[in-house]
Amino acid sequence: MNIILFGPPGAGKGTQGDNLVKKFNLIKISAGDLLRQEINKNNQTGIKLKDTIDKGNLVDDTIINDLINRVISNKKYFNKMIFDGYPRNIPQIKYLDESLIKNNQKISCVININVDYDVMVKRILGRQLCSNCGCIFNKYYNPPNANNHKCDSKYLEIRSDDNEVTVKKRFDTYKSQTLPVIEHYRKESLLLEVNGMNEISSIYKEISDFIGRL
Ligand code: AMP
Repeated sequence: MNIILFGPPGAGKGTQGDNLVKKFNLIKISAGDLLRQEINKNNQTGIKLKDTIDKGNLVDDTIINDLINRVISNKKYFNKMIFDGYPRNIPQIKYLDESLIKNNQKISCVININVDYDVMVKRILGRQLCSNCGCIFNKYYNPPNANNHKCDSKYLEIRSDDNEVTVKKRFDTYKSQTLPVIEHYRKESLLLEVNGMNEISSIYKEISDFIGRL
């Protein structure tokens, strides 16, 4: 099965995706992570991507579509994809549909994680990523400790776009370009609406129960 995790920045898509991957033997495809991998190549494209991301804008569709297409056409990911942060506008839906059809696949469901603006801001400004194991933490809601994190604290990083100025712009971009995506999937009745302000564990239970029934 292939799943889309939808929601504003900081809704918890990455955290929920990481947990669902383990339970349902899926592979998380984070559009943001794919782009950050490109940035780490330290070439001209990477410099431009970083500039766009740090301003809170969406990167060019051709770049992200190409990265996503490489994943979809790779047999390793066949019917095992959980998308986080893609599609993020209407043209990307069309591209995703075409790429899935070409590769004999489809979307099984879309999970929309809803959060209020204030919670979203706190989630983003508190986010910490471990550059060693890839785990996502939050200094307010889910701080790293001896039970949930084995790596040294020196690996904990804050994303360059997780700051107060960019967060506002990212939310504006979400409202203007990304929100229409969910209306599309609502019409196709593929949608589960989730209250993303509940505890991480209860959101996870709701989503995994839903997926388990598919
Ligand atoms: P995320 O890691 O999902 O918060 O994404 C970080 C940033 O990467 C976004 O604010 C955008 O600048 C860019 N980005 C992620 N996904 C997409 C996408 N599907 N289309 C365009 N830009 C994206």
